[in-house]
Amino acid sequence: MTGDVYQDFFTELSDEHLSGVTYKNLLLKKKIVRYLDHKGKTTINHISKSLNISAPKTNALLQELIDIGLVKDYGKMETGVGRKPQLFGLISDSIYFLGVNVREHHVDVGLINFNEDLICIEKNIPYELENTESSLLRLCTLINTFIDRETAWKDKIVRIEINLSGRVNHQTGYSHNYFNFHDEPLNRIIRQKTGITTFIENDTRAKAFGEFHLNRIKNRDNILYVNADYGIGLGVMIDNNLHYGKSGYSGEFGHIPFFNNEIICRCGKKGCLETEASGRALVQSFREKLQSGSTSGLQHQYTLKDIKMSHIIEAALQDDMLAIELIGAIGAKLGKAVSTLIHLYNPELILFGGALASTGDHFFLPLQMSVNKYSINLVKNDTELKLSEFGDEAGVWGSCLLAKNRLLNT
Ligand SMILES: [Zn+2]
Repeated sequence: MTGDVYQDFFTELSDEHLSGVTYKNLLLKKKIVRYLDHKGKTTINHISKSLNISAPKTNALLQELIDIGLVKDYGKMETGVGRKPQLFGLISDSIYFLGVNVREHHVDVGLINFNEDLICIEKNIPYELENTESSLLRLCTLINTFIDRETAWKDKIVRIEINLSGRVNHQTGYSHNYFNFHDEPLNRIIRQKTGITTFIENDTRAKAFGEFHLNRIKNRDNILYVNADYGIGLGVMIDNNLHYGKSGYSGEFGHIPFFNNEIICRCGKKGCLETEASGRALVQSFREKLQSGSTSGLQHQYTLKDIKMSHIIEAALQDDMLAIELIGAIGAKLGKAVSTLIHLYNPELILFGGALASTGDHFFLPLQMSVNKYSINLVKNDTELKLSEFGDEAGVWGSCLLAKNRLLNT
């Protein structure tokens, strides 16, 4: 599966070098592939009628897709009367999509095939995320090592999607918080290092996309995903599509000026939701409580400055009273902010993921009580609140599926 015809299919439609005819044919081929992806195996007649492409043209385009190994003739239909037409469908293992979820201290990598079967997932690969050239190079090396590992997928990965925290513009390919030291967009730099078309996405949004998939949420409108972690992120799904806003920065829930305090947020502003209701705020308040005389099992294990969010989460799960109390307080504050979301969106479902949500009822019960207290009953009544069951895996799934989406959708 090499050569120009094969490469042509994977060219971005936005590529300015495409001629008019090539562009139109590529558009039609993507339409056909999308249709087969949605419908499964089907006949030329069905494709032609549904997509409003003449039968001879459909036939010719299908032949091109067969030639590059994406589509197969699956033989004659087994049911029906009269002349039995041929069935055409996608080949599951013809291409693969690589998803990379970058965290502060590790990376998760996943691979799906054309049929969205999970082929491989590797979690917790050690990695230190820093805004440096060497950290970026280490990420590219890690990706290349994964790609080169198996001959089964080595030359068949057609898209890479990378989740990064902070402000990310998936359309321009620029990341504004990490790896922002080149003039060129980050996705193009990673493409040069891996040889594969790459996209970047905000980690919460990708996780939201993964959650919607893993929870089998289909045909439901107005779904929100709150990533309650070190920072607070929000993914919004409206009419089955992720909501991006004009420049891709929608969902900055954590930076709504919710508190009238003097705490400087990591964004540079004062009083953001994250300053009092986030994993970062949890660590801060935990240290302050210990300093002012409260006790916790953690003070015998770590010095004050070494206590991390993960230690407090773990302590809460081991019944540490101070950890439980402070996580509950954060759940209550976040619940009040979530009632704002309910009033704004009147959502069907709000999913809660991230490290804080992993403490279960310690976080979720105070949050629910607060939502009940601050939301207008009529607006809130149809909103289901649910804890995520998938953790970081949702991030990997989200990135793999978005990679596929980028290829098929225009
Ligand atoms: Zn902020």
